[in-house]
Amino acid sequence: MAEHESLEFGKADFVLLDNVSMEEFMANLKLRFEKGRIYTYIGEVVVSVNPYRAMNIYGRDVIEQYKGRELYERPPHLFAIADAAYKAMKRRNKDTCIVISGESGAGKTEASKYIMQYIAAITNPNQRAEVERVKNMLLKSNCVLEAFGNAKTNRNDNSSRFGKYMDINFDFKGDPIGGHINNYLLEKVCIALFSSCINDGADFKAVADAMKVIGFTGDEIQTVYKILATILHLGNLTFGVDGDVTLIENTKLVSVLRELLSTKEENVEKALLYRTVATGRDVIEKQHTTQEANYGRDALAKAMYERLFCWIVSRINDVIEVRNYDAKIHGKNTVIGVLDIYGFEIFQNNSFEQFCINYCNEKLQQLFIQLVLKQEQEEYQREGIPWKHIDYFNNQIIVDLVEQQHKGIFAVLDEACMNVGKVTDEVFLQGLNTKLAKHAHYTSRKLSPTDKSLEFDRDFLSKTFIYSGKNKDTLFQDFKRLLYNSSNPVLKAMWPEGKLRITEVTKRPLTAATLFKNSMISLVENLASKEPYYVRCVKPNDVKSPLLFEHERCRHQVEYLGLLENVRVRRAGFANRQTYPRFLQRYKMISEFTWPNHDLPSDKEAVKRLLQGCGFDHDVAYGKTKVFIRTPRTLFSLEEQRAEM
Ligand code: ATP
Ligand code: MG
Repeated sequence: MAEHESLEFGKADFVLLDNVSMEEFMANLKLRFEKGRIYTYIGEVVVSVNPYRAMNIYGRDVIEQYKGRELYERPPHLFAIADAAYKAMKRRNKDTCIVISGESGAGKTEASKYIMQYIAAITNPNQRAEVERVKNMLLKSNCVLEAFGNAKTNRNDNSSRFGKYMDINFDFKGDPIGGHINNYLLEKVCIALFSSCINDGADFKAVADAMKVIGFTGDEIQTVYKILATILHLGNLTFGVDGDVTLIENTKLVSVLRELLSTKEENVEKALLYRTVATGRDVIEKQHTTQEANYGRDALAKAMYERLFCWIVSRINDVIEVRNYDAKIHGKNTVIGVLDIYGFEIFQNNSFEQFCINYCNEKLQQLFIQLVLKQEQEEYQREGIPWKHIDYFNNQIIVDLVEQQHKGIFAVLDEACMNVGKVTDEVFLQGLNTKLAKHAHYTSRKLSPTDKSLEFDRDFLSKTFIYSGKNKDTLFQDFKRLLYNSSNPVLKAMWPEGKLRITEVTKRPLTAATLFKNSMISLVENLASKEPYYVRCVKPNDVKSPLLFEHERCRHQVEYLGLLENVRVRRAGFANRQTYPRFLQRYKMISEFTWPNHDLPSDKEAVKRLLQGCGFDHDVAYGKTKVFIRTPRTLFSLEEQRAEM
């Protein structure tokens, strides 16, 4: 290996451990954390431990040290992985993605920001105005999305309550020309927490400024404030009864809401107290009970917040989408995707959102297994390279348990929610017990009838409370119509489905679980089509301390992230592989046997001859169609010789 740090800082790549055991892995991770070396490689994967203190390693000088260098030339760093993804994109025309995973508070969002900053810093040497504009937008969009999508939790003061996948598009010069953001499941409870953001004047101004820079119009920003105010006022709205009539207790609020929503006062009141129901050909207005009214009010607040967030994302996308791009002139544009998505989480009380979040992490783990572990092994087998089988836990069975059609947990949940009568978690639980009783990874607690907790035997799925109500689209059509009929065009445009009259609403909306499942499946398909780079974040302790490395806590993360298996595969494996013709195309000039053409019986023989001539024969294996190079050093030497020609 080329320049590495001195051994007092431990091994910079886990592949270099003397023995691949959990003890050695943990000892190295701990030593490096204590010495302030928060990044360590497993081949091309970066393992990062949250330092919980400001590190002086992200400045312009450091960026310069990583620019255009090979991974192994400098100490491990996020910048090196960002550069590797960038080089693959620019030199080899590959779409790449950087997948950042780890549990809540492990440092994913910080890592994604450093990666973006690095890419922004190394591109656009010619200061083209349009590229500068795009870069500015991409960076500014973070500030806005965090303001609306992050919240303080007991695990992280700035926890992302939404998953974010951002594509950055590059032109043939390797400069950013646009981007696109996908967001996944905003956890709606954060609206309660959002209000504390509102109180902080300085933060609020920063967000408002960022929105202006991005290009939100004055009317749009005003509407955002009005929606936030509406949500806060809804929180204060209470209902009472007079005889059998449900009433709004603080009627003054109704006129405030009318004002904010630019609609008629009587419409607000009606939407809060009644729902329109179609019975056969008749349409009747049914009064809510106070319980229903409370429920409707909360659903309205949550839906407005979620819709607002999605609208903000789509407005940002309008501004950053690739423009003026003529594929005929510039050739294909390439993409680097950055995925920062909520990590595994287990709270004291877990809900539907935690279930979705943990399912998402199972999907990503499955992708990692497929790409890094399974594909490697399969390729060696295909190529006839001797291979020692490596055991790993394949979590496909867990993914199936959740997403399988008809009998997966999501399917059972959807079925429970089809019930016309009151949907309860008990119905859901019964469904699970019936359908999944025999599944090796499902164990139902024998519950008392009132206990709604469910248990699955992987611990990140354990103690999961699932509220079946959260799975349904719970917003009464009356609210959608109310918002659609607003005279504020910005608000109206957010609620197009309010256009439908009650008799026209026939289709049952997709459930939250189905929507989430579909979005995860397409996310994983998208990632799988790109060349992936991984950042695996570890959280050293639960008290945000820069000094504490809680052994058990970290070991657990190393285990479920499959890092040890990753090291084993990497050690058994090869750093690089290329087909014989491609290899010759790049290196044939360094050998008299192959330059300008070879007269050997096959390209494979020619590559053998070339490598024997250079003395690298011991470090390679010859597959059926590809040559496999074990250590990066060999590759660097080949590159050097090529450059000297
Ligand atoms: P969540 O899943 O809850 O969104 P996360 O993995 O995105 O969590 P971050 O918000 O990135 O976690 O990090 C949590 C906190 O840890 C940050 O607010 C910051 O204080 C600290 N932190 C993380 N990474 C670094 C770093 N590289 N240097 C200094 N502090 C860091
Ligand atoms: Mg985050």
